[in-house]
Amino acid sequence: MQFENSKSFAEALDQEDPLASYRNEFHFPQHAGNPVTYFCGNSLGLQPKKTREYILKELDHWEKEGVEGHFRGDHPWMYYHKFLSAQNARLVGAKESEVVVMNTLTTNLHLLMVSFYRPSKSRYKIIMEGGAFPSDQYGMESQVKFHGFEPEDAIIEAHPREGEHYLRTEDIIALIKKHGDEVALVMFGGVNYYTGQFFDLESITKVGHEVGAQVGFDLAHAAGNVVLELHEWNVDFAVWCSYKYLNAGPGGPSGAFVHERHGNNPELPRFAGWWGHNEEERFKMEKGFIPMQGAEGWQLSNAQIFSFAAYRASLELHDKVGMKALRKKADQLTAYLEFVVEAANRPGLDLNIITPKDKKNRGSQLSILTGANGKALFDHLASRGFICDWREPNVIRLAPVPLYNSYQDVWKFGEALNSFMDLA
Ligand SMILES: *Cc1c(COP(=O)(O)O)cnc(C)c1O
Repeated sequence: MQFENSKSFAEALDQEDPLASYRNEFHFPQHAGNPVTYFCGNSLGLQPKKTREYILKELDHWEKEGVEGHFRGDHPWMYYHKFLSAQNARLVGAKESEVVVMNTLTTNLHLLMVSFYRPSKSRYKIIMEGGAFPSDQYGMESQVKFHGFEPEDAIIEAHPREGEHYLRTEDIIALIKKHGDEVALVMFGGVNYYTGQFFDLESITKVGHEVGAQVGFDLAHAAGNVVLELHEWNVDFAVWCSYKYLNAGPGGPSGAFVHERHGNNPELPRFAGWWGHNEEERFKMEKGFIPMQGAEGWQLSNAQIFSFAAYRASLELHDKVGMKALRKKADQLTAYLEFVVEAANRPGLDLNIITPKDKKNRGSQLSILTGANGKALFDHLASRGFICDWREPNVIRLAPVPLYNSYQDVWKFGEALNSFMDLA
């Protein structure tokens, strides 16, 4: 599509947008009496209006039923995690039995590494992306040390080539092959939080398996953002959080995926808790852990109902649209933002988009390397009611989220860039 940098063009795109009405399903923070222009959905998604109702319903249920709430009502707490499985399975391209909602993201990363990072003397290395989200870096570092290895030796990071900002798939593949039978685990983000690069998860999985490694992904920035086919791609395990593109609120619960070929293997070592134990026998309280089949067999604790309720509210909205339709708008909205930023760019502004250009290699995020006055630009945007994200030393991250951002939001952003230059 040939874009135009004008208000009327953006309005026309909003009018044709089949998802435009979803914007009304969300609460927007206010700035000087008007809704903000929110580009931070990759950090904390906005609150769906339904969320309050879903949480209040569980408060009422507790008030009226006490402990009986575990077994009564439309959504008995005993089975609450199951009410999220079908939507989560569609979200990441999995079978229902391959996904479960439990705990929080970093917790699940560790739990699944207990099962899938089981190094030997000769096969102990982890291949990951350089500049991964810090929690993943600390997670890998501490796991490696836990098994008695040195992080400097055991963790191999893939870095972009000199002068480039993101990774080439061919370089990732070459790195995995280079370390070959020393690789125990390939652990990548799905979408890198800093650059917004969406990695080729299928190819990474394939080559990881070729060298005999396990392959897992942290999908914090991918779930609810890009189309995933975890089952088809034969991924061993994956984890994600629900509060970024999935709008389940601060500290929201995590989703986990375990491929069925592992999920149905009760011999696979794991750290166990009563909620992962055979459901029929759970309340017999007997010795001897027998895991449930599938991803549910990794659960430790009974569900955190209030945060699960918030996730259920937001997932229902997400699921109604579906990832393919979301992505269709998202690709166009992101491309429009790219167009508008490039149209405003000029000497003095010195913006450089470091997110891949090809829509195959990105989701709903653009990361912009700013010039010398980057922080002043960011502050200017904030004073005009734009909620963006500043990453030291000089990157502004923008997430145009298809569920609640409009083409007019994007057009306004270009105008704000222009007004900054007019002041300079
Ligand atoms: C947001 C994010 C996290 C945060 O982990 P929590 O355990 O939910 O605090 C971890 N890893 C990545 C890649 C993230 O983007």
